Amino acid sequence: MSDPSTTDAARRGFASYGPVEDWQADVCVIGGGAGGLAAAAAVAERGLKVIVLEAGSHWKPPEFVQDAAWAYRHIYTEQGARSAVGNAVIPVPGGKGVGGSTLINSAICFRTPEPVMRQWATDHGCHRMAPEAFSPHLDRVWQTLRVVINPVVFQRNNNLIFKRGADRLGLPGQWLARSAPGCVGCGVCYLGCPTGGKTSADRTFLPEAVDTGNCTVHADCRVAEVEAQGDRVVAVRGALVDPTTLDDVGVFTVRARAFVLAAGPVGTPKLLLGNGLADPATCGAWLYLHPATGMLARFPEEIRPWNGVTQGYYVDRWERGYLLQTYTASPDQTYTGMPYSLGEDLLRAIADLRHMAMAGPLVHDEDSRGGVSLQGMTYFLGDGDRRRLLAGMRECAEVFFAAGATEVYPGIVGGRPVRSPGDVERAIPDTVAARKIYLYASHPMGTCRMGADREQSCVDPDGRVWGLANLYVADASVFPTSLGVNPQVTTMAVGLVVGGVVAEAG
Ligand SMILES: Cc1cc2nc3c(=O)[nH]c(=O)nc-3n(C[C@H](O)[C@H](O)[C@H](O)COP(=O)(O)OP(=O)(O)OC[C@H]3O[C@@H](n4cnc5c(N)ncnc54)[C@H](O)[C@@H]3O)c2cc1C
Repeated sequence: MSDPSTTDAARRGFASYGPVEDWQADVCVIGGGAGGLAAAAAVAERGLKVIVLEAGSHWKPPEFVQDAAWAYRHIYTEQGARSAVGNAVIPVPGGKGVGGSTLINSAICFRTPEPVMRQWATDHGCHRMAPEAFSPHLDRVWQTLRVVINPVVFQRNNNLIFKRGADRLGLPGQWLARSAPGCVGCGVCYLGCPTGGKTSADRTFLPEAVDTGNCTVHADCRVAEVEAQGDRVVAVRGALVDPTTLDDVGVFTVRARAFVLAAGPVGTPKLLLGNGLADPATCGAWLYLHPATGMLARFPEEIRPWNGVTQGYYVDRWERGYLLQTYTASPDQTYTGMPYSLGEDLLRAIADLRHMAMAGPLVHDEDSRGGVSLQGMTYFLGDGDRRRLLAGMRECAEVFFAAGATEVYPGIVGGRPVRSPGDVERAIPDTVAARKIYLYASHPMGTCRMGADREQSCVDPDGRVWGLANLYVADASVFPTSLGVNPQVTTMAVGLVVGGVVAEAG
């Protein structure tokens, strides 16, 4: 398979553009992330010419700079400042560049849980997501990403210590499957994988698309306008972006027979709403986030949490509505990511980072409510989700103590370090308000929900925007509900499904 970063004919970027560009294809995909690149592969392999337009740049692994400030500016959407506001403020990072959020994700892979597929098919009429229909696409994603469990030698202390605690408590813990067959545990997944060990979408689905001879990817192209005539989209237009200054320096137009929006669960509804192509009652109306929190635990031995697989181990509490997952980040991301409002104790803990382990719960949204509008993102953590998050925090603290922690920092504003397992219930009570919890979310979903009922969905069961004959959505926006597990595999399978429909429609 070719490396798209070296296949210049298929790889267009800022340096190869004039001030005004006009392009034509059978199909135009807007957004080069998990869903968009899988959709492009599905279209290209059926013989149609496809252009992928991506707002960010097309990076090669050695070009990633191991520095949070560089990464936020160049490979994070909204320069890393994207957040949702409601009864709490939640950072919601997303990736930018060919590969989308897979450029900065931890590579965790889960198949879509079977009960979720059944619910989507039965309650929402998404027959293409029924287990029998969807599973072959999940199999293909698994194979294309070359999903593995990374060797223990690369997991290192942060994962091993959590496994030790979970084993001592007899909890259902497992190594996380990851799309990182070449991972060497350098711990900087969120800054772009510098070794190419991660099989992000730009290194997997894009080469599959390019190798057909039918796909070109145009980086540094931010779509703003989607022009419809009657019930058909005829063109998209936007700005050619200078990747150094981030200034708009030219314009482009793409004409095609069909268009696929894959600008992610925030970008896609904004394009639809901004161009008056969907009803705000159903577009952007449902936002799920998998609200999560990060906890630190001090150990007598050195953990050096910046070292090793970023997210290698988890405790499966899906039945209870949450997962406990380890996580690590580079020290500069840890410093910038932890809010000062958590107080002096936590800042002192971060100063002693080499003795700290990190993990936290991620919740399957059930009663939270959120949305995306042209003004931004709102999210109100529901009472049940808040309680599940706190239950996950308590269990996470127990795992840390079982592993030998001397102190646990729960990530509650004004909270004090917990010093013994007997104090966990008192220190993390069910009464903590949402605004006092350190929340974080990197899995927006559901903002252009798929469904058979036009009043309750934004796209039909083929992924076509209601009311428009040739405009589709193929990203995590279309999930009818929250998923409960990390979403990249499901998103890519959605891309394959919708891409197949688009190609068959001609
Ligand atoms: C820090 C982080 C860690 C994560 N870890 C994991 C993990 O370990 N496992 C997992 O399963 N999931 C993980 N995820 C989530 C997963 O990566 C996403 O759910 C998935 O990539 C979503 O795919 P998508 O196609 O919907 O959007 P994206 O992959 O985000 O792609 C959208 C693309 O559209 C582009 N775009 C937006 N607007 C425009 C426009 N107007 N014009 C042109 N292009 C545009 C964006 O620049 C972006 O490249 C993580 C996410 C983040 C942010």
